Amino acid sequence: MGQETTLPVLVSNLIELKTWTIQDSEELYRINGWGEPYFSINEAGHVTVSPKGDRGGCIDLFDLVNDLKQRNLRLPILLRFSDILADRIERLNACFAKAIARYNYNGVYRGVYPVKVNQQRQLVEELVNYGKSFLFGLEAGSKPELLIALATLKTPGALLICNGYKDLEYVETAILARRLGQTPIIVIEQLEEVDLVIQASRNLNIQPILGVRAKLSSKGIGRWADSAGDRAKFGLNRWEILEVIEKLKAANLLDSLQLLHFHIGSQISSIGVIKDALREASQIFVQLAKSGADMKYIDVGGGLGVDYDGSKTNFYASKNYNMQNYAYDVVAEIKEACAENNIAAPTLVSESGRAIASHQSVLIFDVLNVSGIPSHDISPLQEGEHLIIRNLFETLEQINVDNYQEAYHDATQFKEEAVSLFSFGYLNLAQRARVERLYWEACDRILKIVRQQNYVPDDLEDLEKIMATTYYCNFSVFQSAPDSWAIDQLFPIMPIHRLNEEPTCRGTIADLTCDSDGKIDKFIDLRDVKSVLELHPFHPHQPYFLGLFLGGAYQEILGDLHNLFGDTDAVHIHVSPNGYQVEHVIKGDTMTEVLAYVQYSRDGLLESMRRETEKALQAKTITLEEARLLLQKYEHSLSGYTYLS
Ligand SMILES: *Cc1c(COP(=O)(O)O)cnc(C)c1O
Repeated sequence: MGQETTLPVLVSNLIELKTWTIQDSEELYRINGWGEPYFSINEAGHVTVSPKGDRGGCIDLFDLVNDLKQRNLRLPILLRFSDILADRIERLNACFAKAIARYNYNGVYRGVYPVKVNQQRQLVEELVNYGKSFLFGLEAGSKPELLIALATLKTPGALLICNGYKDLEYVETAILARRLGQTPIIVIEQLEEVDLVIQASRNLNIQPILGVRAKLSSKGIGRWADSAGDRAKFGLNRWEILEVIEKLKAANLLDSLQLLHFHIGSQISSIGVIKDALREASQIFVQLAKSGADMKYIDVGGGLGVDYDGSKTNFYASKNYNMQNYAYDVVAEIKEACAENNIAAPTLVSESGRAIASHQSVLIFDVLNVSGIPSHDISPLQEGEHLIIRNLFETLEQINVDNYQEAYHDATQFKEEAVSLFSFGYLNLAQRARVERLYWEACDRILKIVRQQNYVPDDLEDLEKIMATTYYCNFSVFQSAPDSWAIDQLFPIMPIHRLNEEPTCRGTIADLTCDSDGKIDKFIDLRDVKSVLELHPFHPHQPYFLGLFLGGAYQEILGDLHNLFGDTDAVHIHVSPNGYQVEHVIKGDTMTEVLAYVQYSRDGLLESMRRETEKALQAKTITLEEARLLLQKYEHSLSGYTYLS
């Protein structure tokens, strides 16, 4: 007997003794998959940032956040790593340079950054600056973005692609910018725009450079599949393109038409879809060139994906190709079509936004507290306890690998019976509370067994979610990760410290808003998506910082003021020989600022409070000291951060 019982005990002791390592954390949070080459984990168990990839300079994120707090910056905080932005631009250009060399392509690459992806001034200015040596340009999709692009782009030879809906003023402003030495290309997206363009160039007597946006029949994939196809919102179909050519010819402007543009949507997860679109677009390009237009550019739009879950698959949060494959395919497809038709190789343009801007920013927020299923010691069964309690006790004590599924159903049934018994007055509150504790204890034991199985039975699939701890965090999903709420986008989220400690809890994340949608309960996983995230036990009064990664594209500008949580503090961090340097500090919104968006003035609010306080003083419901304190706190809050301190 002795032999048989000691062995399993020994083995289970061994399992418990195995210490958690940073390699375990790397694997769990998949940081090498999505974070390469910028993010990793150091020996201290902290996330590190190497903004220049493997070319030196490494910043400990946890230390950085503590340093920034010393400088009076507050959580949540958005960190923008300028060197990552520079690295992304260099990489994209290097990939195209390599592809052009490999295929002996007789043309060049001139990328543009779509301003809509992140319009923050410091970021766009840095980007233009880093892009100078590559003649990297900008793309505007609206009038306000055109104004940004015109004033910011000062790189002779770089392109300024003008997309979006246009009126005469938009078109005239863009055409006039040619006189500043800029290269604005006005992309005709609607048939009516061709008349605007002809009129504007007559008014100004300046010849424009024009493009057409083609609606492709090739479908996109995933969330933005409908951005392409015959019924897409933007672009011209075949007969409309022919009509543009006729109109330009009649106006003697056909040689102004130099660019073909298409865009099949963002985050294209499959390279096959990109190739199909390239093939179709190349043929349209050839036809345009043959019709007498002076075709010099082909603009392949956005769509270059980001691997949010690090799985390298065509799952929507991933992509089954890398930047180099993308560049190879763009160059190869266009080269082939042009060579076959004896047409000069055009300048290649891409409008890659997500792929350039996602990696550079990291949002750090702190956990405020947690709530979960309380774990209580179960006191032993007493003589004469209610039958339902005795039943549950028995179920609880017999849970094992062979019967856990059945035990779960039994326990659930007993709990439900207890609820009815309570409703009919047959159980008192203490008895019902005891039932609940026993039930959660049973679920906890069952869950531990479930986690060790290779296969989770359907009926137990939700158990992990039901048992998850809620981590209440100091941020707003609507302000800082709106796509997580709006379109279920996945972002890698993980603690930025304690990574040499096993994360023994399973949690979901709740934000500060009083909206039940203000939560994150979908997390990246190797297979599909997981509903809980492994996190560390939370100790009150000890900081626990989480990072949300790869959110640099779209999130900042799509973020809204739900519950009036405003912009977070943001800083630009630059790698320096001594570590890092804080370049720009952009203070988040104050309450006065967010209140002004909804038309409340600081003075008006204060005056109203003063009057109410005066009334209360007259009615003697408040003391002079309390009145002073109230007004003081009110006024102080107005200039404060909208998040919790
Ligand atoms: C949004 C958009 C882009 C950027 O797409 P990404 O997938 O972020 O690279 C490029 N071009 C046009 C026309 C767009 O609308």
